[in-house]
Amino acid sequence: MNVLFPALRDGSPAPALRFGDRALDYRQLASVVGPLAERIGSLAPGGGPARIAVWATPTLETSVGVIAALLAGVAAVPVNPKIGERELTHIVTDSAPALVVAEPGTVLPGPLAALPRLDVEITEPAAEPAPHPLPLEPGDESPALIVYTSGTTGPPKGVVLPRRALAHTLDALADTWQWTADDVLVHGLPLFHVHGLILGILGPLRRGGSVHHLGRFSTEGVARELSAEGTMLFGVPTMYHRLALEAGENPALAKALGRARLLVSGSAALPLTDHERLTAATGRRVIERYGMTETLMNTSVRADGPDATGTVGVPLPGVYVRLVDDAGQAIETSDGETVGEIQVRGPNLFSEYLNRPDATAAAFDGGWFRTGDMAVRDASGNYRIVGRKATDLIKSGGYKIGAGEIENALLAHPGVAEAAVTGEPDEDLGERIVAWIVPATSPDPDSLPSAQELADHVAQQLAPHKRPRVVHFLEALPRNDMGKILKRDLRAATPTAGTGNA
Ligand code: ATP
Ligand code: MG
Repeated sequence: MNVLFPALRDGSPAPALRFGDRALDYRQLASVVGPLAERIGSLAPGGGPARIAVWATPTLETSVGVIAALLAGVAAVPVNPKIGERELTHIVTDSAPALVVAEPGTVLPGPLAALPRLDVEITEPAAEPAPHPLPLEPGDESPALIVYTSGTTGPPKGVVLPRRALAHTLDALADTWQWTADDVLVHGLPLFHVHGLILGILGPLRRGGSVHHLGRFSTEGVARELSAEGTMLFGVPTMYHRLALEAGENPALAKALGRARLLVSGSAALPLTDHERLTAATGRRVIERYGMTETLMNTSVRADGPDATGTVGVPLPGVYVRLVDDAGQAIETSDGETVGEIQVRGPNLFSEYLNRPDATAAAFDGGWFRTGDMAVRDASGNYRIVGRKATDLIKSGGYKIGAGEIENALLAHPGVAEAAVTGEPDEDLGERIVAWIVPATSPDPDSLPSAQELADHVAQQLAPHKRPRVVHFLEALPRNDMGKILKRDLRAATPTAGTGNA
């Protein structure tokens, strides 16, 4: 029988999960999740549409709660504990959970406090935990998790992820990155999204490996864990940016990162400047993966392949990816220049948006899922993400220009710490390019690079038609909990440190 976590079934004494100084090996994990799954099952019978909310703090309790839900055969809905009241009400109304699972002692906000509650008690493990076969058949369409999207482009949608998709992605990533029982994944990502929870917690357990969660991300924590047992690191670009800056000045951190077998970034594009800084300091390349809530993992740069920096690599085994032009035709060329929408097909796909048959139907073109992300494919078959169709593709002077390459060019200027690029309506050009800059030095008007200087810098590096026409200077870019830049909020942002035209 194919089971989700063989080491859990076998009651192995090998380490499974560690959060700070609290840890469980597989035997202990089995003895904790078994009774919890039974209690969940008696309150929220599986087999039907039963769902439970999990108050997803970055803790052992959240991980145990999600694994117990999988075992009980109900769908877990991880909830961001920092979420606002309005969004929380939406998620609770939309997903209608039968109960909420939380850490003992947590005070839950209104909409969740009204539900029956189960506390995750991590007590002394039983001497002989019962074995827990968690069957996992490849074609199992029953919902495993309902994960709400990051809300980068609009209100979060509940993505129904069947067990079939979970099984596929956990195996695809373990195969692609050759995970073994000796691997220890270090991460400090939140546990209410695919990246931190599904890839970061459930991923290593699939092959009997273990997870050291940092609780809160810190560069000291990364250095400590990778100098000890850690073999792999997962992070988002804001984390690698901090690591890149610090590794250049801190040899101990650079050495720790250099020891890791695998450094993986995902959830948004990692700027080229950070790739370069990290490689210079550590001698290692960061692997970039591309995925989304609806599709789990789509592509990855091969850890043992030729240098594919700046791309998100090739489709994972079993995943089909195509580029489609505006007329809906598949693009056959792999010239590294022709931009198309990425569409995905395969066993990694979600089954539907919860309660949104309209949005589900609109998201598919036959069996292909329209990601809304634009990319090019190079001669090696690697995909390079240009950006999101809705916010990152600027149509200016008859050209289609991706925000990402302009952002990378701006970040290569020494006066720029952070950069985001948008388009705004322009009578002559259709749209003009607008740059939003956080300067590297204090926002003292005398030390700022001028708008003209930045525009010339982009024009020299890329092409004259890619120069920004307007440059706004800010103290910080608006970002969500995953560190993603919220471009829809930029339009309403006040350029605190001034604006220049070029
Ligand atoms: P919403 O769908 O609510 O607007 P979201 O799309 O940010 O939010 P997620 O599903 O968490 O929610 O994120 C997936 C998106 O993140 C992808 O569609 C893509 O735009 C972006 N992304 C993920 N990995 C990468 C990467 N390596 N490079 C560039 N973009 C990436
Ligand atoms: Mg999305």
